[in-house]
Amino acid sequence: MSQVVLEGQRIAIHAGAQGNDAVVGLHDVGFKTLLSRLGISTTWGAGERYILFTTPEPKIISFALGDVRYDAGEVSGQAGFAPYERGGEVYLPFYTLLRAVGFEPKIDGGETILQSQVEVDIQSRGQAARVLMHAGVPLAGRLIASSGNRIVYQFDGVGSTLERTRRVHAGGIDEIRIEQSGSVRAPVTRVTFVLSDGANASEMPSENNHDFQLAINGGRGRQVAAATAAPAPSPSPVETASPKSVVAVTAVDAAQSQDGFSVRIAVSGNASFEWHRLLDNRWYVDIHGATLQAPPRDETQTAPSVTSLRVHQVSGDSVRVALTLTGPKLVDVNPGADGLTLLAHNEDDDMLARSGSGSIGGNAVATAAPTSEGWKFKPAPAKTYVPTNPRLIVLDPGHGGSDAGAQRGGLSEKTLTLDISQRLRALLIVRGWQVQLTRTTDIDVYAPNDSAKEELQARVDVANNTGARLFVSVHVNSFVNDAPNGTTTYYYKTEDRQLAQAVHDRLTSANLGTKDDGIIKNNFYVVVHTAMPAILIETAFLSNPNDFALLQSSAWLQRIAKAIADGIGEYAGAPVAAGSGQR
Ligand SMILES: [Zn+2]
Repeated sequence: MSQVVLEGQRIAIHAGAQGNDAVVGLHDVGFKTLLSRLGISTTWGAGERYILFTTPEPKIISFALGDVRYDAGEVSGQAGFAPYERGGEVYLPFYTLLRAVGFEPKIDGGETILQSQVEVDIQSRGQAARVLMHAGVPLAGRLIASSGNRIVYQFDGVGSTLERTRRVHAGGIDEIRIEQSGSVRAPVTRVTFVLSDGANASEMPSENNHDFQLAINGGRGRQVAAATAAPAPSPSPVETASPKSVVAVTAVDAAQSQDGFSVRIAVSGNASFEWHRLLDNRWYVDIHGATLQAPPRDETQTAPSVTSLRVHQVSGDSVRVALTLTGPKLVDVNPGADGLTLLAHNEDDDMLARSGSGSIGGNAVATAAPTSEGWKFKPAPAKTYVPTNPRLIVLDPGHGGSDAGAQRGGLSEKTLTLDISQRLRALLIVRGWQVQLTRTTDIDVYAPNDSAKEELQARVDVANNTGARLFVSVHVNSFVNDAPNGTTTYYYKTEDRQLAQAVHDRLTSANLGTKDDGIIKNNFYVVVHTAMPAILIETAFLSNPNDFALLQSSAWLQRIAKAIADGIGEYAGAPVAAGSGQR
């Protein structure tokens, strides 16, 4: 029995010395308590070779039984000893794990003090740099000195094993000096930034209290400006359509093309819309907060999918565009900055949403309600797709780089989708799959500020070029008001449907705490153009308070990743062993 001390609190853990390391059992109660305090989740099942630890960031530390090497995020290292199994228990190199998650074990008075270590990351670009400091405990920096070209910050409660002096000479920073003082139990780390002539530093708000950020500018006179408070979680930056301004429907153009019957509705500003599909194949969309400036229409059409088109002002502030469809046709609803485009497909469809809503203008968005009874699912003969790599699953973390996706209170869709995808990757690897992510960092997959099509095609290419078995795209939803909420699984191709069902079943039975928004057929680019079974999951709504709270919980992100992994397993079974040919 030994005591470890984390932030002043004692936890009893059965850990014994083993070489330069210490050994701990995976199921030790104290060890589990420690992991839960640190927000770390564990993945291991009897008979499995890999043991994974996922931090809240998430950073994934993976050990393999019998192997002294381990991976921590992008770096690999040598553990104090190889993890081993005995009598149903797995024994792990405790100190190696602690260091991998940012703690240095220090012995003091018969106790093991877990001293959080500060990490310093410098990203420079031209004359500017961003300094990101991170610790496994809350990190507060105090400016204690600023003179000449030096500024000094003090961080209480964290230590450092970093090199004392780091010469940078980039982005306005010449050098960084790090000194640790204080005691083992109450360490103090001081960081001195020596700036280039004319450079200045300012504190930046951080996404969470474990980070501290400075922006360095190589240009003007030196000054240290205190940061404004970190963004509070409550105010929603999600823009709402403004019903006050006078918004007009200025034109409605219809055309028949190879893809189907398209209707382009030009709208002069922000407006919300909602559409409905009636059981007799009538379909209409109401644009709210708008007046009709274009001439009303009431016309017969001779398109394969549409027999009539009507455009009217239906109330003081709603314009209705109504179609009579020739059968159960999918109607795509694509809002944009300057209006709404509809496309009624020529072919009949099997499962169709009955209603949906969204907004037009600055923050164009569309959602569809779950498919309900009334439409029969007619399975078509599946195309035979043969994966060239049947062990490979491609995961697509939505958005990234210049495209943040939905945002609220410091949380970005692009960060959440990558987080969930990394957790999912780790779970799938443990189950024997090879996994490739379309992006592993905060980047655009094609290029910054590229077109949506270039960006999405680049993601599709990753899956198609590697001949993957499956493709799963992960997103977070948002809406102009806080009402819509829940989890939706989208599919498009016939061969996607079964995968969507299997994953959605697991999502709804995993007690995620989100509403079941169903399985919806929709022509999302990445689902349509991938050669293999593909789905797109809208995990939850950032714009809804309940969903927003869930998205802030790393335990919830882990649960949803596990549910998706379980659904994939349900659908695809276990991966074939390497070299045993195609399934
Ligand atoms: Zn998205």
